[in-house]
Amino acid sequence: MKLEQISTHIWSLKTWFLFPMRVWLVKDEEGITLVDAGMPFMARSIHRAIDQLNAGSLQRILLTHGHSDHVGSVHKLHSAYNVPIYAHEIEVPYMEGQLTYPRRRKIEKNIREGLAAALPTTENGHLQSFAGLQPYLTPGHSPGHTVYMHEKDGVLLAGDLFTSKRGRLKRPMSAFTANMKEAIESGSIITQLQPKHLEVCHGAPVLNPASQWEGYLAENMKDYK
Ligand SMILES: [Zn+2]
Ligand SMILES: [Zn+2]
Repeated sequence: MKLEQISTHIWSLKTWFLFPMRVWLVKDEEGITLVDAGMPFMARSIHRAIDQLNAGSLQRILLTHGHSDHVGSVHKLHSAYNVPIYAHEIEVPYMEGQLTYPRRRKIEKNIREGLAAALPTTENGHLQSFAGLQPYLTPGHSPGHTVYMHEKDGVLLAGDLFTSKRGRLKRPMSAFTANMKEAIESGSIITQLQPKHLEVCHGAPVLNPASQWEGYLAENMKDYK
């Protein structure tokens, strides 16, 4: 697996399993926050990467959503570090297997019940930020899909909100997407946040993604008009 620094506070850890797969390690003065947890076999590399960064221990795991390729190593990492795991409250019952993900035939129990907590909200109803990362709900790929914006570094950790190909924004993988139209519309968050650098789980980074928004929308929304 390849550990690569992408900005002052963020490293991506990349592997290949049928398609490219990334998780992110974000440093702050307390230690490391992991965003997404990949496949079960990634636990050891994540552990090693945390040691290698030498920036303190793991503090928490933030999940973009609960699909099995994003939560795979949480059980092992939780046994090793005993840290809180957060996902959007809308997502939690789907990943725990109380609700069936839309367009899936079977219930998925991707995470042990009670292990993940709902992302806390502040008094004004916004999602609370952690380690410089502001969460935003971006439903569509899954009901409670959430992205994390690192304001200081100008980096958006976007999970499966998009994929990418040769530096171009692409829509999320259709077979695994609950509601494609909603997912495409949620992508407009990039015009609001204007990240310099967009990270997606299954594809290479996209620089200045908002400059591609109009083209992306035209290309992908034509099926829904
Ligand atoms: Zn997914
Ligand atoms: Zn995925």
